[in-house]
Amino acid sequence: MYLKGRNYLLKKITMKIFSLALSACLFFGAARAQLTPFELHKDKNYTATYPEVISYYNKLVKTNPQMKLINYGMTDIGKPLTLVVLSRDKVFDPAIIKKQNKRVLLINNGIHPGEPEGIDASMMFARDLLKKNALPKNVVICIVALYNIDGSLNRGLSRINQNGPSAYGFRGNSLNLDLNRDFIKVDSRNTIALETIINTWKPEIFLDNHTSDGADYQYVMTLIETQKDKQNRILADYTSKTLSPELYKRMKASGFEMTPYVESEDTTPDNGIVSFLETPRFATGYTSQHNIISYITETHMLKEFDKRVWATYDFMQALVDINERDAKLIGEVKAKADEDVKQQKTFAMGWAVDYTHYDSLTFKGYFGGYKPSEVSGLSRLYYDRSKPFTKTIKYFDNYVATESVDKPIAYIIPQAWGKVIDLYKLNKVAMHQLAHDTSVFMQTYYIADYKTISKPYEGHYLHSDVKLMWSNGQAKFHEGDYVVYTNQALNRFIVETLEPKGVDSYFAWNFFDSILSSKEGYSPYVFEDVAAELLKKNPDLRKQLDEAKAKDPTMAASASAQLNFVYRNSPYFEKTYLRYPVGRLMRPAKLDLK
Ligand SMILES: [Zn+2]
Repeated sequence: MYLKGRNYLLKKITMKIFSLALSACLFFGAARAQLTPFELHKDKNYTATYPEVISYYNKLVKTNPQMKLINYGMTDIGKPLTLVVLSRDKVFDPAIIKKQNKRVLLINNGIHPGEPEGIDASMMFARDLLKKNALPKNVVICIVALYNIDGSLNRGLSRINQNGPSAYGFRGNSLNLDLNRDFIKVDSRNTIALETIINTWKPEIFLDNHTSDGADYQYVMTLIETQKDKQNRILADYTSKTLSPELYKRMKASGFEMTPYVESEDTTPDNGIVSFLETPRFATGYTSQHNIISYITETHMLKEFDKRVWATYDFMQALVDINERDAKLIGEVKAKADEDVKQQKTFAMGWAVDYTHYDSLTFKGYFGGYKPSEVSGLSRLYYDRSKPFTKTIKYFDNYVATESVDKPIAYIIPQAWGKVIDLYKLNKVAMHQLAHDTSVFMQTYYIADYKTISKPYEGHYLHSDVKLMWSNGQAKFHEGDYVVYTNQALNRFIVETLEPKGVDSYFAWNFFDSILSSKEGYSPYVFEDVAAELLKKNPDLRKQLDEAKAKDPTMAASASAQLNFVYRNSPYFEKTYLRYPVGRLMRPAKLDLK
């Protein structure tokens, strides 16, 4: 048995009466026009297509002045991204809304169009709030109607493990990108449009609606909240003590009891689950860099589609209600978190689960076991739904930083690295430009070592395990190069993108790959004589070469390796090879800025 929602049953009955009345009486034609495509389908196993979504909102907005549709940018498929804004006071200017000290809640739907509950639930949710005159006083609700338009238009049945709806969009967009990995590298125009929305509306709370993969259990909905150790401590205090427990409580009362997202694919969840870590490439990893309280709903893929839609609806209602209740507090908490990050000195570059500490969790699962596979004859996992259980399991929800970096006073980014500058402008990072060519005492990194994946991931050959060397000295910058001081609420975004060791840094995502190959070389027969001369004039270099040979027999036996050693330690060797171009200002300096 699935956990059945009390409200879900009520809604089913209400909808039944409503649709009976509709079919009985043509007079209700107007009301019928307000039903969503999901509601109009008898079996409630239908998700609206992109044209249906846009047409529905276009009709709804005509009779509702508390609603506005705003299009952003252009997505990869050549259609704009539609934002539905619901504002009780009919104020649709984010700057005025901020001045009025109102909160902004941003809901994203259809980043994975095969996980479309949020698309259909949001259409009903917006209509009901308007129809019942129930818009919150202190919260403006922004809904991304359907984010991955491209994927949505590529409709079919691409999620083999999912129980409905009858057809749905594909995960990849028209560049075959998973948009929920694109928030740092920003390869898609969809991402530019969504990040424009985020940096224009500056929500305090963000919700991304999804459907799960993986294990079987009784819950219709699971929840990912920003991992508390990674989250700003002030936000984590409010979310883990107040907001999240209240969401769990309200969802239980509405009949859709939730559990934290179940991260376990091959073993059954009763062996324990691990809290999900959303690094900055993910929507909520990115929004948490902006100190936005972030949640991901993951409805369970094996439950009926209508239950998943209603659970998503109820979650959004709970989130809006708590946001309305705590509006003032959430504003204060956000302001404190921003101030805290401005002062923060040390930033984690990577995280690992702490398996030595765990919490206990009451979990409603199904018996899971192994039996011989009819496909392979080998052992396979199965769940037995006739054997539900409630038991206490381990919940590994603690993470520790694997490495951290102290921020400099400022970074200086040469203007040549245009994509970095463009993305910093998109993210509204405060930047200044040097007034003239300048030599500044800086710390400069050299990439000493790194690993690279052998096949591309989301269009990139990601780097990891970055080792750095650095030197301190005068570095030259040009008029117009960008100075980024680290006294900003966006410090986490700045440090995590510009520090090469960051798990989702711009270096990791190949923005700086051109520094990884040298541009000049030598003809050995010519350089032999120059190298001999260099060694004669420089006894220290001769000593270094002898030491290196003594340590490394391969080098001792290789003429070319020894010649190369001399070259690399000569004044002829190029200074830019492996030199990370973004400088770190480590001590105060008076810079002439434009
Ligand atoms: Zn998803």
